[in-house]
Amino acid sequence: MLLRPRPFNSSVKVMEEKEVRKSKTKMKQVRKREPAAAQNTNKLEEDMEDYFSKEETHNIRASLLCWYQKNQRVVPWRITSPNTSQEKEEVEAKDQYQLAQRAYEVWVSEMMLQQTRVATVIEYYKRWMEKWPTIHHLAAASQEEVNHMWAGLGYYRRARFLLEGAKMVVGGQSQSQGAQFLFPTTVSALCKVPGVGQYTAGAIASIAFNQAVPVVDGNVVRVLARLKAISANPKDATTIKSFWKLAGQLVDLHCPGDFNQALMELGATICTPSTPSCSTCPISGQCRAFSLCRTNTSVCVTDYPTKVPKTKQRLEFCAVCVVEILNNQGPKTQQGAQRDNVFLVVKRPEEGLLAGLWEFPSVLMDGEADLTMRREAMDCYLKTSFKLDTKKKHCILSRNYVGECLHIFSHIRLRMYVELLVLQLKGGESFLYDKAEKDSLQWRCVDSNSIESIGLTSGVRKVYNMIHEFKQTQLPLDLTSRKRKPI
Ligand code: SF4
Repeated sequence: MLLRPRPFNSSVKVMEEKEVRKSKTKMKQVRKREPAAAQNTNKLEEDMEDYFSKEETHNIRASLLCWYQKNQRVVPWRITSPNTSQEKEEVEAKDQYQLAQRAYEVWVSEMMLQQTRVATVIEYYKRWMEKWPTIHHLAAASQEEVNHMWAGLGYYRRARFLLEGAKMVVGGQSQSQGAQFLFPTTVSALCKVPGVGQYTAGAIASIAFNQAVPVVDGNVVRVLARLKAISANPKDATTIKSFWKLAGQLVDLHCPGDFNQALMELGATICTPSTPSCSTCPISGQCRAFSLCRTNTSVCVTDYPTKVPKTKQRLEFCAVCVVEILNNQGPKTQQGAQRDNVFLVVKRPEEGLLAGLWEFPSVLMDGEADLTMRREAMDCYLKTSFKLDTKKKHCILSRNYVGECLHIFSHIRLRMYVELLVLQLKGGESFLYDKAEKDSLQWRCVDSNSIESIGLTSGVRKVYNMIHEFKQTQLPLDLTSRKRKPI
């Protein structure tokens, strides 16, 4: 499974070789002045006693670029590097608008690739570019459309940032004015765009604008840690800073975009976390970890980078109630199914986990809770927010516990207990429009066709699929035929 790991952020810029030498001297001075520095920092300083020599840098650049030309994976967001002098001239002659278009493509692909497999991203990227081929098209989209397009990729903040960033970059200009708008080209200017950190800025600046700036993501960290046999904690701020320095030293001054992509590609395909293929690695001759493990059987290249224990995920419990409201005035389909039943969905707060996304009414519990406690909490929520009194039995056509499912976020394991509540309300869904809390809550009713277009997160989709299956297999009869008096 090839995931693009999380980028490593730092404010460090490219270091020319001179600066690296200066920094090395400075590091030694610091060590003299602070003999009691933290063990990790000392270890790092030992590891980085020397940076890449001029010769090493030259060899790594040449080998990696040559390998990349022949071995890069074909993906829709890459363009073939110019080989002939005519192709190079064509690239150099690209106007501002073409460069901005390239920056947009790199930006979208890099945002999608964070924490997501390349194979998964390919289809998402193609669909995205068909719908919003330019940044102007994206800037005119709604958050809901973007969420819908993003559904299933996870980390929805990225989708939000892309839209906010597009609006900011375009700055209200129409597509016809496209040739005049300015896409930020430097790392510092790009970092001002929402959601663009040091990594994404480096990727856009180097790949689209040919600037000699580094990128550091998890793949790059792994390759560098092995190249220099760095055993310091890779999550430590000092270590991260040093990785940026090393990457800054290595980046090729003429082909920075290709070089950065080559380094990441090597980490993703050859220098993998647990089964690196050192025998086919183009830079094994410059790799210290590889050299160490050949002379010392107790050393293995996978000892680098040092493994840091993962933060334990916390377990959370949540009561989820899928409220289905019958609008029983509508005609039935030929199959006899009821038309126009709607589901109540609620927008999550604009900050925090899954910000601004739609979900079924949910209540987070303090801990593990039985059905009675969960129902009490849900009843309270529905009454407070929608004036829905589930104690009035005559409005309830059915209430069934459907089951539980686990949804995993990077830091949370969320156990969702799902029930289906089918209601018949006087006036159908309009009952809610009169009664629901107006100031602090955003909600709506959607039918089974349009629910697919509001950008269901994979967690909400799991719940929806559970409900769908339950209705297919276990809901005993056509509820709409029941004669009950609406409230
Ligand atoms: S030689 Fe092995 S450990 Fe070193 S960079 Fe290449 S694949 Fe990674």
